[in-house]
Amino acid sequence: MDTYVYEYKGRAYINLTNKCTNDCTFCIRNHKDGVGGHELWLTREPTAAGVIALLGEKPKEVVFCGFGEPTIKIEELKVIAKFVKGYGGHVRLNTNGHASAFHGRDIASELVGLVDEVSISLNNSDAEKYNKVSRSSFGVEGYGHMLRFARDCVQYGIAVTFSVMDLIGEEDIAKSKAIADDIGARFRVRQYC
Ligand code: SF4
Repeated sequence: MDTYVYEYKGRAYINLTNKCTNDCTFCIRNHKDGVGGHELWLTREPTAAGVIALLGEKPKEVVFCGFGEPTIKIEELKVIAKFVKGYGGHVRLNTNGHASAFHGRDIASELVGLVDEVSISLNNSDAEKYNKVSRSSFGVEGYGHMLRFARDCVQYGIAVTFSVMDLIGEEDIAKSKAIADDIGARFRVRQYC
C-alpha cells in the first residue's frame, strides 16, 4: 500500500510524488526504499483529498518531503497546505527549489500564507559543483533557478534555510554561508552519514 503520510520525528510527512528534477548522487532513494520503516516508493500519486483524509488528527507540524520533489505536485500541495494552515498547523516544505523553473511561473508567491518555511539543499557554492552532485534536469542552470526561488521566498516573507553537507570542506562551507547571508536565508551544515 502506498505511503502518502508518515510520521517521522514527531512530525507528519507528506509524500506526494517520486518525480524529481534532480538525480542527486546522495539521494536516499539510491540506497533505501523508505524512511523510518515507511516504504516511500509510490505506485500511484495521491490526490489532495486523499492526503487530507489521512490528516484527521490535525498534526501540528506538517512537512512536505517524500521520495521526490513535492512542488512537482504544486496544486495538490497548495490545497493540502491550505487545509493545514486552516486549523493552525505549521507547514514546512523541503524542496530542491526548482518549482518556478519547472512550472514556468512564480511559484514562491503562491506559497505565501500556505507555507511557513522552506528548506533547500544548497549543496555547494557554485553551479558547477552543485550540478556535479545534483545532476539536475536543468543542467548547470539548476543552481540559478534554485537561488532565485530562495530569494523570492525570502522577499515574500517565507523563511528559508539552506543546507550543505560538511564533506564539501571549510572553504565551500564559508562561501555557501555567504550566499545564504546575501539572500537572507538561514544556514545549516549537515553531517554526512
Ligand atoms: S532533490 Fe531530493 S528527492 Fe530529488 S534527487 Fe535530490 S535528494 Fe532526491
